[in-house]
Amino acid sequence: MDHFHLRDGVMYAEDVPLADIAAAVGTPVYVYSRATLERHARVFRDAVAPAGRVHTAFAVKSNPNLAVLRVMQREGFGADVVSGGELLRAMAAGIAPGDIVFSGVGKQEHELVAALDAGVGQINIESEEEGVELSALAAARGLRAPCALRVNPDIDAGTHEKISTGKRDNKFGVPNDRAVAMYARLAALPGLEMRGLAVHIGSQLSSLDPLEAAFVRLGGMIAELRAGGCTVTHADLGGGLGVPYKAGEVFPSPAEYGAMVARVTRGWDTALTFEPGRVIAGNAGVLLTRVIRVKRNANRDPFVIVDAAMNDLARPALYGAWHDFEAVRPNGTRMTANIVGPICETGDTFAMGREIDAVEAGDLAVFRTAGAYGATMASSYNSRGFVAEVMVDGDRFATVADRIAPETITAAERVPDWLQ
Ligand SMILES: *Cc1c(COP(=O)(O)O)cnc(C)c1O
Repeated sequence: MDHFHLRDGVMYAEDVPLADIAAAVGTPVYVYSRATLERHARVFRDAVAPAGRVHTAFAVKSNPNLAVLRVMQREGFGADVVSGGELLRAMAAGIAPGDIVFSGVGKQEHELVAALDAGVGQINIESEEEGVELSALAAARGLRAPCALRVNPDIDAGTHEKISTGKRDNKFGVPNDRAVAMYARLAALPGLEMRGLAVHIGSQLSSLDPLEAAFVRLGGMIAELRAGGCTVTHADLGGGLGVPYKAGEVFPSPAEYGAMVARVTRGWDTALTFEPGRVIAGNAGVLLTRVIRVKRNANRDPFVIVDAAMNDLARPALYGAWHDFEAVRPNGTRMTANIVGPICETGDTFAMGREIDAVEAGDLAVFRTAGAYGATMASSYNSRGFVAEVMVDGDRFATVADRIAPETITAAERVPDWLQ
């Protein structure tokens, strides 16, 4: 459920007509609904509450905007970060370091040091080498870093191959058949406080089955570790719950997910961490765009050329992803069209042969479900600058990220004097 809806024939975000935002901020612009973010945060929290001692850490990479992180902080969420930059953002948004989990397969020394200096709540180690390095850094500072070991359970998440992370061939985690022995070795290091295992098998999962299989495997390893004399107090179950991108699609609900988790983890006697991203932010944002023109080529269907492009919303070009496209002021008729951006690449295509609300030059429209993995993946390709972001709260809205103009980007570039 979200708060983008038609009222008297025009689309609103909460109580703000999207046309007002376009007039004030221009297009393209991401529009987030605070009420939707809060609703999703509460639904998720309530869904996993029956599983016991629970910590929810919002996956910052899904939407790192400071205002979005602030909403999550106010809802009691910590953060799952995957870089020093995300750590900086989470703390800038007021999230307590102790509520932050630091994940990622290639953490660099300066990032590990930043995490230790900040006192992050948990560092998820992805290799024995990383654990050894972290131990040395922590010990040199008189610290013991609270850690979990990320396991690669070798389970096919059944999602797009580029966002599948839990198969043996993927770069993430340590192989499950080596995890138990490795954990014991890491637990003996002076700078680490090994407190548990972590797993995250992928994103946009449409079934609970692979998640359940991964959690069952994790439970088996926890028992093995304890049988071998290791202490395990925490389990991190990652994120990954998918959301519908097409009207009418049905996905497992947070409640079903929570019930599965409670059933599978019964008897584990550990605190549980969750790292949801997409399921919180996905439906809480749209990308508002304006039709530049409608062009008829040799094709059967016309090209609807919009002012948003693959540099603003990369998912269709990157994963062949679908985003529903809806007119802000639908006139009641439909058309079949190819929706494309202005970028000089054929990959800059949002949809081919799609039945949509009929639109013409100058009309506003939205790509729905753009709140996660949207603005955060933006680039300035074709020197288009960076897209702006707005948050709506009831009948008011604020720009929460300025549009970054091409001039600002070129101002950071230099022609060396030997080219003058
Ligand atoms: C990306 C990521 C998440 C969030 O995934 P969603 O599918 O957005 O819920 C959680 N944990 C880790 C380690 C990640 O890399």
